[in-house]
Amino acid sequence: MRHMDVKVPDIGDFSDVPVVSVLVSVGDTVAAEDPLIELESDKATMEVPSPAAGKVTKIVVAEGDKVSEGTVIMELEAEGTAENGAIETPSSAAPAPAAPAAAAPATGTATGRGDQHAEVVVLGSGPGGYTAAFRAADLGKSVILIERYPTLGGVCLNVGCIPSKALLHVAKVITEAEEMGDHGVSFAKPKIDLDELRKFKDGVIGQLTGGLGGLAKARKVTTVQGVGTFTGPNMIEVAGDAGTSTVSFDQCIIAAGSEPVKLPFVPHDDPRVIDSTGALELADIPKKMLVLGGGIIGLEMACVYDALGSKVTVVELMDQIIPGADKDIVKPLMTRIKGRYEDILLKTKVTDVKAQKNGLKVTFEDEKGESSSAIFDKVLVAVGRRPNGGKIEAGAAGVAVDERGFIAVDNQQRTNVPHIFAIGDLVGQPMLAHKAVHEGKVAAEVAAGHKRAFDARVIPSVAYTDPEVAWAGLTETEAKAKGIKYEKGVFPWAASGRALSNARSEGMTKLLFDPEDDRVIGCAIVGTNAGDLISEAALAIEMGADAVDLGHTIHPHPTLSETVNFAAEMFEGTITDLMPPKKK
Ligand code: FAD
Repeated sequence: MRHMDVKVPDIGDFSDVPVVSVLVSVGDTVAAEDPLIELESDKATMEVPSPAAGKVTKIVVAEGDKVSEGTVIMELEAEGTAENGAIETPSSAAPAPAAPAAAAPATGTATGRGDQHAEVVVLGSGPGGYTAAFRAADLGKSVILIERYPTLGGVCLNVGCIPSKALLHVAKVITEAEEMGDHGVSFAKPKIDLDELRKFKDGVIGQLTGGLGGLAKARKVTTVQGVGTFTGPNMIEVAGDAGTSTVSFDQCIIAAGSEPVKLPFVPHDDPRVIDSTGALELADIPKKMLVLGGGIIGLEMACVYDALGSKVTVVELMDQIIPGADKDIVKPLMTRIKGRYEDILLKTKVTDVKAQKNGLKVTFEDEKGESSSAIFDKVLVAVGRRPNGGKIEAGAAGVAVDERGFIAVDNQQRTNVPHIFAIGDLVGQPMLAHKAVHEGKVAAEVAAGHKRAFDARVIPSVAYTDPEVAWAGLTETEAKAKGIKYEKGVFPWAASGRALSNARSEGMTKLLFDPEDDRVIGCAIVGTNAGDLISEAALAIEMGADAVDLGHTIHPHPTLSETVNFAAEMFEGTITDLMPPKKK
């Protein structure tokens, strides 16, 4: 036993923080890391843990007292001889041995040092990870960002959102030029130089990922390249080209993302079978291409390859493409692609894909159980993504991962181990970059001691197809399934001057309202630029706006944004550009 003064550790930028509760009494026996007192600043609530196991012999502070880093709060007769009472100081310079979580105390203060150490370590540099790392650095934390690939940005910047949008832009220009023929302006058939096109796409990626590297440096965020796996509650081992090193942390944010799902009956090792990453590589333009999966990623890539000249077939198990969206919203997209693509097979299962010399022989089974087959030059498998939670030895840190690879978190993005956070694709649906970014900010701010929680009302979804499909908040499908009462205002773009001028009047804007107070609770839009238009509705829902707020806000004319205004007027019955709907 040895006498120990227990001091307030490093609590970030806070000083003179009030003690809101004293959690122990003189004579109590405490274990290392047991909370002793609770502090509450205007931004955060934090517990001061015991630096060692022992007996409380004196309590120096009372509720209401103000403390800062270094203030002695109590005295302890500590067991053993190891610790020195300065709980913010790790006891050893040597790396902590790998230990199962159950054996090692999970703590927000590293008890051993790795080859490198940071207050916050972020595993994975996708939109969630780099955002969390940069925000934590901006809040004064020392930060290490671990990434297995040489460039930052994760799936989104390298093989996801950004390259797909670069190619979708090209697709749009090609199809718009093509369709101008109907309006008296004809262009020659486009000549596609795949090498140049690839260069354009790679240039966009390079600009963004290079920019991230610069931002990391400017913020003094250390990047470590290699595959990271947990070896203990405060330690990650990183296996890189230069060998293996260890990184210790006080707090960690897991942002290891997701990867494409593979199907057992598909020969994924055949180069003619590709996933979204392979599709974005643009190796060639196949004559006949099957897109296996009618979700957002599959349909976006279908849009690209159709414009480049492939004959595209889409196969989807469900009774509609983009199964998360309302049927009426998807209809204009379905109508357009039905006219352009070779085939769209709904309620159809792919049961086999065989690699043959003359192509990939795909067997389909329709809803009646009848089989058919066809040969394709390429098959793009786009049936979803699965989280990487099962690949980082999270168990060594005590972090629970479910059988699918998801990591459960609370509304502050904390896992079951309080000093380890998780964000992005590996914490659940929807797997979207803007959700990951938002969660990254929450995790970084909570790690820095701020009072912050994930309390967004809506996460908008967008399919950047042609036309685009976007929705935010409640959908009609969800409302009907859950028995939620709603009323709606729908504005068809056939009455929008701007949509007609663009020769793209197939769109529609739909707003859902709470019948109790007319507040906006959902919105869905299909049409060109729907992805940009949805933000107004998202803001309306976040701010609790009602139909009058949207209807009385002057929108510029002629714009597609007016359709949001008009949908609110359709609900209110004040529309003048159409006949108002009959009162119920
Ligand atoms: P990721 O972006 O998956 O990043 C995880 C990072 O962690 C990766 O860089 C990975 O290399 C690294 N990593 C993993 N394990 C380790 C390890 N053990 N050690 C070191 N590093 C590791 N979303 C949108 O919102 N809009 C879109 O338009 C859009 N388009 C998409 C198009 C395609 C083709 C695809 C595939 C996805 C698209 N997404 C889109 C989804 C979006 O890319 C993801 O939701 C987003 O990237 C998730 O971010 P994240 O930070 O969770 O993880």
